[in-house]
Parts: sequence; C-alpha cells; structure tokens
Amino acid sequence: MKVNGECHCGYISYRAEVDPQRVLICHCTDCQTLSGSAYRTIAPVEDGTFELISGEMKTYIKTADSGALRSQTFCPECGSPIYAGPADANSTMLGLRVGTLAQRDQLPPKSQYYGDSARSWAQDISALKSD
Ligand SMILES: [Zn+2]
Ligand SMILES: [Zn+2]
Repeated sequence: MKVNGECHCGYISYRAEVDPQRVLICHCTDCQTLSGSAYRTIAPVEDGTFELISGEMKTYIKTADSGALRSQTFCPECGSPIYAGPADANSTMLGLRVGTLAQRDQLPPKSQYYGDSARSWAQDISALKSD
C-alpha cells in the first residue's frame, strides 16, 4: 500500500509503501518515552520504498536492550518522530510512526509486542468518558 505523510510543522514530508497486515503496537518502555505516550503504532516499510520528499531529518542513535544500535529519526523543527531502523542500514527494516501518515485511519494494528511493559490502563480505553 502506498502511503505518504508529514511531520506536524510540515518541514518533513515523505512517501513509502507498507504492508497493512504488518502494522503493530509496541509497548516497550523506549517507545513510551520516545513517543511521549502509552505505546507506539508502527508500520514496517517495504525495503527500499521510503522516499524523503522535503526537509532533512535529525537522527538520534539509541542502544537497544539487545545491544543493537537503532536510528530514531525525527523532524528537527517540531520533533515529530518519523521512523526507526538499524543504525548501520539506512534504507531497510524501517518502522514508520503511523501517527504522521495521511492514511493512518486505514492502518489499524494487527499485533502488539512487549506486553510486559504495557500500561495496564492502555489495554482498554473504550469505557473512558469522552466528549
Ligand atoms: Zn516538523
Ligand atoms: Zn518499542
């Protein structure tokens, strides 16, 4: 599926292809901190299809629990996260952050990971009061 997206301020825009069947939620504590939220929704990019249309992303290299170096990219102007991937292979195995995608509504997650660190209240918010 072809997708496109942009950061909150519009400086970064991109297009890519993703497989809607592989969209996932990650509950790991890194995703909680880096997203500033309870969990992160991720769409793995088909290899080689990510194309930056405008702007220049900033990269933060984080060491995962496994010892692997992971590149976290984001807009240097507004801080919106764009994708993460292995630090040594820039164009493969990228995980797009679904919140910046124009097609986010068509990409419901199909699986979830790191349930041990999931916030218990994040499992079901359907009963919360809303306006
Ligand atoms: Zn931005
Ligand atoms: Zn995670």
